[in-house]
Amino acid sequence: MWNDDKKCAVVLSFDFDAESIWIVHGLTTPAFMSRGAYGANVGVPRILGLLEKYDIPATFFVPAETVRRHERVVKEIHAEGHEIAHHGDIHETPTGLVIEAERRILETGMQAIETIVGEPPRGYRSPAWDLSPNSIRLFREFGLLYDSSVMGDDFRPYLLDDGGKEAEIVELPVSWELDDAPHFLFNFIPYMAGLSAPSKVYETWAAEFDGAYECGGVFTLTMHPQIIGRYHRIRMLDRLIEHIAGHDGVWFATCSEVATDWVSGRK
Ligand code: ZN
Repeated sequence: MWNDDKKCAVVLSFDFDAESIWIVHGLTTPAFMSRGAYGANVGVPRILGLLEKYDIPATFFVPAETVRRHERVVKEIHAEGHEIAHHGDIHETPTGLVIEAERRILETGMQAIETIVGEPPRGYRSPAWDLSPNSIRLFREFGLLYDSSVMGDDFRPYLLDDGGKEAEIVELPVSWELDDAPHFLFNFIPYMAGLSAPSKVYETWAAEFDGAYECGGVFTLTMHPQIIGRYHRIRMLDRLIEHIAGHDGVWFATCSEVATDWVSGRK
């Protein structure tokens, strides 16, 4: 059971990359920057409107670069009651970094979010959906509760493995199937076909939710304001939330709420 008496937990998570995802790849021409700005100026307001319509909380993973560039928008997200979590400094891949560089990035992101929220973030999502050999040790060092970057389960959280023993870091697993980017994101270099019909994605996501509901697990979606923010995709997400909310015993929660609840259930 989740949150005392709920059958299934649902996490809507949004990676608010904005311009950072293009900057980190050296793509800084006006077209790429405008795609990032679109996420902040058009995508986020549409998402917030939808979350308000259903009165549900969400988790936004925000790089420090987005906090610096779109402070007002990040403050607004937080003011509406959503969780702000760590997503790197400029959307870096941690896998090849030396420990000092990775520590510096974690520190920068912690401080940037603390400035907005008033307390440090409780969770991290790797921009690369992968970790370095030092990541777990650093998560402990920074007092993080959870990570949401890897794929060792589908509907169940678990503790990250730290060299053969369980670390006290909860993993809320992600998956490419439940990420809007591979389905929808179009780009020339690197080439990504994207541009899927929303009906096709709805079919996959609704069926995965049904699986999470059947086994009493967690359904975790990863979306990006600059991708899901397009009108036809927001309409699809609206339809999906309606489908989910039509089930008895569904708990819409933030990542930190789910991680906390899961840990308390183990004790
Ligand atoms: Zn990202």
